[in-house]
Amino acid sequence: MPTAGTSSSGEFACATASQRTLKDLRTKRKGQPVFVVGHVLERKGAEATFEVFNVRLAVVKFSDGTLLGYDPVELLLPTEIDDKGVAYFEIRQCSKCDQQFPLTAEEAQGEVEPTECPDCANESGLRTDS
Ligand SMILES: [Zn+2]
Repeated sequence: MPTAGTSSSGEFACATASQRTLKDLRTKRKGQPVFVVGHVLERKGAEATFEVFNVRLAVVKFSDGTLLGYDPVELLLPTEIDDKGVAYFEIRQCSKCDQQFPLTAEEAQGEVEPTECPDCANESGLRTDS
């Protein structure tokens, strides 16, 4: 079933310490706002909404109506969604591996923003948010 793990009701997800991309979400809801970092150059850095799964690709819809399929790890979650449903993205580039990653609301409001993606931070053992 291409729609497995999707739902059209409930709240949309924001980035947390343990979930930063669409892949991390157990339930991926239609309409979930995402930030695209994928392979299609002219769409890189664009905001889109998750529609449905097509085989293993997450199909997203851009504001101009274009539908494209992405690996769910290429779709970053918003940092915050306000009470009107508008998603805000705080995307940073890792100083080590150049991957882009979303800040969590906590990180965005903290005094010091992380400069490494969660993977690199875990590897170098610099995580202090125990
Ligand atoms: Zn990194």
